Amino acid sequence: MTTRRQRLVVLGATGSIGVSTLDVVSRHPDRFEVLALSAQNRVDRLAEQCGRFKPRFAVVGSAAAAERLASLLRRSDCETTVLAGAEALEGIACLADADAVMAAIVGAAGLRPTLAAARAGKKILLANKEALVMAGPVFMAEIQRNNAILLPIDSEHNAIYQSLPRDYSCDLSSSGVRRILLTASGGPFRRTPVSDLAHVTPEQACAHPNWAMGRKISVDSATMMNKGLEVIEAHWLFNVPPERIEVVIHPQSVIHSMVEYADGSVIAQLGNPDMRTPIAHALAHPDRIEAGVAPLDLCRIGSLDFERPDMDRFPCLRLAYEVLARGGNAPAVLNAANEIAVEAFLERRLAFDLIPIVIEQALRNTAWMKADNLDIVMEADAAARKIARKAVDARARPA
Ligand code: NDP
Ligand code: MG
Repeated sequence: MTTRRQRLVVLGATGSIGVSTLDVVSRHPDRFEVLALSAQNRVDRLAEQCGRFKPRFAVVGSAAAAERLASLLRRSDCETTVLAGAEALEGIACLADADAVMAAIVGAAGLRPTLAAARAGKKILLANKEALVMAGPVFMAEIQRNNAILLPIDSEHNAIYQSLPRDYSCDLSSSGVRRILLTASGGPFRRTPVSDLAHVTPEQACAHPNWAMGRKISVDSATMMNKGLEVIEAHWLFNVPPERIEVVIHPQSVIHSMVEYADGSVIAQLGNPDMRTPIAHALAHPDRIEAGVAPLDLCRIGSLDFERPDMDRFPCLRLAYEVLARGGNAPAVLNAANEIAVEAFLERRLAFDLIPIVIEQALRNTAWMKADNLDIVMEADAAARKIARKAVDARARPA
């Protein structure tokens, strides 16, 4: 008996996660079919992907990018319909015949299309953690109301998902779960003297010891804001209070996270640091498929190390725990200010060690509010960006 192929939409197809997703998909033409792809600016890469996967739709960020893409596709006889803009992006996220949506846009820009997929009751493969951080309660309510399925792509959350009981009902105590142990590599500056952090460059920050990722998440890993965002992400995905989420630095990135049970058992998921593992897991769930990932050679790795994170070295991690405790619009403010500060650092306008200072300033200068609807979340996002831009300008490096 042949089963129908799973129809897939990939939001953020040209990014690090998007490319890894299409790599896994290309290994299983009998299982998956690509319905739509999106990118912002990288039109050449998207054109090449359209040529290979023949999606019905491709969406880009602007009319100019759409024109360039359409002209490239005409040359290659590709029949993909090219669209542009936010509405089109939301449109492909809820196509009637899409089975699954890979949410792999970076940052707040991914929130609306991912919410659209939730409202349409799709299976969502969630890489875009910022969407969940900004709008946790709104997002989870839409998932539940529309019977959408949420599968985590973030390697830690995917590991937790794999280590929880199969029938986990988002209730820790009835499942006998005591704690979540969220592992972190510690990034490239784990041993850098704190006084040198003012002078590190975007190239150094993006040279992650274990993972090849997009530039924004690479900087987040260097400040450990990435782990902070992941604490918030774990809270919403698995309904775990912050005091039961412990961050453990594990420089080898072999254990992707762990779940500790009441009887003292700790269940972990291990593997090489390659995002194709969680992507393949979520794509095929509950089946297991080949992902192109090299076998884990523990004898070559030799030893696995662990240490506690130093909150003075990594103030962003502390800020993330604080906003999670505060709730309301605070996580949206943190996320937006972080995006502005990271962008300024990548453009060499802000020193690395000032990233948390800019975020703190945004948190201090926005009014706290409950955030149970999208309008409040988007207002907090806009207000925080404004304050963070001012804070960056005030501290900007002279050109
Ligand atoms: P990349 O920067 O590599 O890719 C981002 C993708 O989003 C690209 O396709 C990009 O298009 C698109 N994009 C960027 N800005 C916009 C916008 N304003 N509107 C619409 N699309 C946009 O990021 P990653 O793949 O590294 O990360 C994607 C998400 O996955 C992030 O949320 C990250 O935190 C998460 N994640 C990533 C991991 C990794 O290993 N990379 C691991 C765990 C989570 P274009 O190429 O045209 O610019
Ligand atoms: Mg992660």
